[in-house]
Amino acid sequence: MLKQRVARLPKETGGFLLGRRRGSHIEIVEATLQAKMDRASETSFERIDLHHRHRAEAVWQSSEGRIGLVGDWHTHPCGPPVPSAADRSAWRQLVSSIQGDAVGIILAEGGPGVFVAPRRWSVLGARQCSLVEECEEDLVFGGGGCNPRRAGKREAAFFA
Ligand SMILES: [Zn+2]
Repeated sequence: MLKQRVARLPKETGGFLLGRRRGSHIEIVEATLQAKMDRASETSFERIDLHHRHRAEAVWQSSEGRIGLVGDWHTHPCGPPVPSAADRSAWRQLVSSIQGDAVGIILAEGGPGVFVAPRRWSVLGARQCSLVEECEEDLVFGGGGCNPRRAGKREAAFFA
């Protein structure tokens, strides 16, 4: 994703985040990348290409429903990783579509911003997580205010 951010400058880029839900945790295992039909400008990225959706469906099927759509990512060519009103409304749509907490990642000039958009959208909306652990190739973020008990009962759902 970081390589893509640099390669696509000065425009934005992005895609879906695919992963599995394990109790209160969301493990991201893959990110889809910009494809031909997507529309990118210096201040927006529209994930229009069907590649994103097809890849999510293929992974969902081949993993027998264990790996699915868990969020999205996009870049901000300049400025901090602060979600815009459009970002927040896109996350809100995403959580209602996947019927579960979603992860939103913004790769910006000042580093990555990792957010959890809760399934039950509140006044607070998406909450920012911070890096809690770095082990080998894995980065662990936490503090997004997830409710572990509720998340544990949840099945990952794909495109309601
Ligand atoms: Zn944005």
